[in-house]
This record gives sequence, structure tokens and C-alpha cells, in this order.
Amino acid sequence: MNATRPPIADPVNAAFAGQSATVAARRQSFGLGARRDALGQLGTAIRRNEAALVAALATDFGKPEAEVILTEILPVMQELRHTSRHLRRWMRPRRVVPTLATFGTSARVRPEPRGVCLIIAPWNYPFSLAIGPLISALAAGNSAIIKPSELTPATSALIARLIAETFPPELVTVIEGGVDAAEALLALPFDHIFFTGSPAVGKIVMAAAAKTLASVTLELGGKSPTIIGPDADLKAAAKWVVFGKFVNAGQTCIAPDHLFVHSSVKAAFIAELRSRIDATYGKGGRSPHLARIVNEKHAARLSALLRDAAAKGARVILDGGADSRHIGPTLIEAITPEMQIDHEEIFGPILPILPYDDLDGVIRQINARPKPLALYIFDGQRARVDRIIAATSSGSVGVNLTVAQFSHTGLPFGGVNASGIGAAHGHYGFRAFSHERAILANHFSALPLVFPPYTDRVQRLITLFKRVLG
Ligand code: NAD
Repeated sequence: MNATRPPIADPVNAAFAGQSATVAARRQSFGLGARRDALGQLGTAIRRNEAALVAALATDFGKPEAEVILTEILPVMQELRHTSRHLRRWMRPRRVVPTLATFGTSARVRPEPRGVCLIIAPWNYPFSLAIGPLISALAAGNSAIIKPSELTPATSALIARLIAETFPPELVTVIEGGVDAAEALLALPFDHIFFTGSPAVGKIVMAAAAKTLASVTLELGGKSPTIIGPDADLKAAAKWVVFGKFVNAGQTCIAPDHLFVHSSVKAAFIAELRSRIDATYGKGGRSPHLARIVNEKHAARLSALLRDAAAKGARVILDGGADSRHIGPTLIEAITPEMQIDHEEIFGPILPILPYDDLDGVIRQINARPKPLALYIFDGQRARVDRIIAATSSGSVGVNLTVAQFSHTGLPFGGVNASGIGAAHGHYGFRAFSHERAILANHFSALPLVFPPYTDRVQRLITLFKRVLG
């Protein structure tokens, strides 16, 4: 039936060839004005497609309209505005003062486009995690091929249409598809690969990039711990935890994965969590304010995590009434290391609660695991918060809040090692898609005085240089 359909590699190769052929011309013509125009066109297209985007995300996983605006459209529009406003300064070559050894020269760092970039996006924020990196790629003067997720087909189709209507394919194009399409793309010698997704696939992407020595930005995931200290404002903490954990039905890379709660406040904090969950979502998993699990496979994975935990002695404190892709906020305790939920990124509305008395023990547990994408600390004692920050590592830290660090355009957004390599957003995103080219120009450098042949005079000068500079 599909005999006449071209294999995936054909459109992929054609798209790559089209963008590669125009790199040299783009280096000269895609300046500040053209880049700002491109960003402006993208903004106009997004505004025109807002209603369609809300509909697509409702189709893909029942995401509430308010959440689409808050977590998909707003971050992208904010990134667009921030980037357009600061682009002139970011693009400007930066003068560097001469060193003694290079006296008589002038030095500058010139941010240059990397060339042809690949953006591979996940399904959980399928619009903002495809378009956000595109903004940085265009701002830095690149062309880009976007591979959105196959698990959110309505949103991916919308992205493909929006991009095709806005940009020539030599500048931006979308290749839809799953693993086959991603593999075909990863076989090509891109100049930069910006990948957002799981740590497991991140390793595949980095291995593919190693073959061509493409630079990479890897925005990955993992288990982000949250500590509720003895001096936390419990009501406020419950508000932030419930938002951060259950927005997008828990399918958020920086969602609190599990809670370490100080024993002295455990009962009171669970009561606060329950009352906040009730006030926000009511009972069960059918609230109109709660997105659905993206597909049956992921819903089954979450149910299996719960079954495994229950079979090994975990207690369900609040039952989310898992019913196919509707899973309501679920609280569980008595977690042990034998349970799968203690190891796997949960990525759903299930929140394990682990009581503790000894903060050093919590720090040891955090440090014994792969470095998380985010770490959240709720505590009124500044010294204790600082101690935790100093003793651990993570992509980012939220103090007395969750997930809001994503929305600060002045902060780097990214992980560390297992949770990612490199950073996105604002100037950091621009730099991820730029090559910082060092330029040193000679005016009256004295360095030729020490060039060979190494006569006695030259050797004496080298000794003098060493004494002065070394
Ligand atoms: P995923 O890794 O399964 O898929 C991401 C993308 O990679 C998709 O476009 C997919 O088609 C592609 N892909 C899948 N298998 C591939 C393969 N074998 N070779 C090449 N490409 C392949 O991730 P997901 O399920 O879409 O997203 C969830 C994960 O992403 C979670 O771990 C989450 O924490 C993480 N995440 C991280 C961030 C961040 O900014 N750090 C943001 C969102 C999600």
C-alpha cells in the first residue's frame, strides 16, 4: 500500500541539504534586522494559532486551556520578547583586554551561528519545548529542523503547519515522525543538536553526535527531590508542591518527584496537601483542571509503579482513582529501595512521601543518585537552605517554590550530567546555538622577538619573558 511513499530518509536528506546549501549565504544576510523579523513573524504566527493550539493540546492529552496559555504560550512569548529586546547586545562582538603576552594586539569574541541545527522535542510540553529552542536557534542566526514528538500528533501537526506557513524550509522546517525519523536525522552531520527528552534517549543522541562531533545541548529529566524542612511554611509549601507536581498531570521534567518531609511536620503537611488537592481538583482524576496521561502505555506504566509499590508494602494515603488515562493526585508513603517507584522518574501525578529526621541522611541519599534536574527546598531557616545547596548538585534549585525557575528568562535552564548538558533560555539559549569565535588581531605585537632561530639574545629574552609572565 505504501509502495510509492518515499522512505523517511528522503525528506530528511532533502531538508538537510536545503538548509546546508544556504549556510554560507545566511552567514552574511541573516543579521540583526532579519533575525528580529523572523522572531516577529514567529510571534504573529503563534498569536494567530492560539485557539488551534488550545484545541490540539486538548485533543492530545486533555490539557486545560488555562494550562496551555500558562505553560505553552506564555513562556514562548516571554522568550520571544526577551530575545528580541536583548539580541543586539548579545550579537555584539565582545572586546577582551590584551594580556601582557599579547600586548600590541586587539582581542574580541564574536558570537557566530553554528549553522544547521536539529531540535528534537518531547511530548510533555510539545509546543514550548519545540518552539523555545527555535527562538534561540534563530536569534543566533542558524537554520533549524524540528522533530516534534510522535506522541502528541495533533500538536506536532500544528507545529508543522505553523512553521511551513511562516518560514521557508531552508530556514526552518519540521520533520514529523517517531524513532525512525529521529534516527535518520541523527545520522546527518548537524552543527548542533538540541535534544529535550529522557536520559536514556539523551545517551543515544550523544552517541550519534559523537560520530560527527556535533555539539549538543541535552535537556533531560530524572527524579527531582523536594525537602520540606521543620521550619517550612506548610500551607504555602503545599500550594507550590501541588501546583508543581500536578500541573500537566505530573508530566513535567522539573516536577517534584518525591518529598522528604521532616517527621515533626509530616502529619500537618499531609493534611495541608490533602486540603490543597481537594480545593484544587476535588476528588478523583476527572477534574477539568487536570490534564490526562499522554497515552495508555504511560498510564499503564504509572499503574504498574503503584501496584509494585503496594505489593512491596507502600501505603496509599490519597487514592487518585486511576482509571485509564485519568489519574488523580495520588499520595503514597512507606517507600523502600526495593520498589521501582524509588528509582524511576515518576512523570505522573503520584507523589511519594518519605519522612526524615536526619538532614545529612537526606543529603547523602540525594548525592548517591544521578544529579537531578531540580532540587526544591522549603524551609524558613536560611542557613539550613544554604547548607543543603552547598552540599548537593542539581540543574537548578527552587527555594520555597517549585517549577517557577523555568519562567525566569535571566536564569540558565538545564541539568547537570545525568539530567542534562548545557543550558537553554535567554542569553544562555543564544549562547548554546552560537560558536564563540576568538579573534586576535596583531598591531605591534612583540612576540616575533622570540621566534627562532634561538640565538643567545632570543634565549635571554625568553628567560626574561618567563620571569615577567610566568
Ligand atoms: P523521549 O526521550 O522518549 O523522546 C524525546 C524525543 O526523542 C521524541 O521526539 C522522540 O521521538 C525521540 N526519540 C525517542 N526514541 C528515540 C531514539 N531511540 N532515537 C532518537 N530519538 C528518539 O522523551 P519523552 O517521553 O518525549 O519526554 C519525557 C522525558 O523528557 C522525561 O525524562 C522528562 O524529564 C524529559 N524532559 C526534560 C525536559 C528538560 O527541559 N530538561 C523537558 C521536558 C521533558
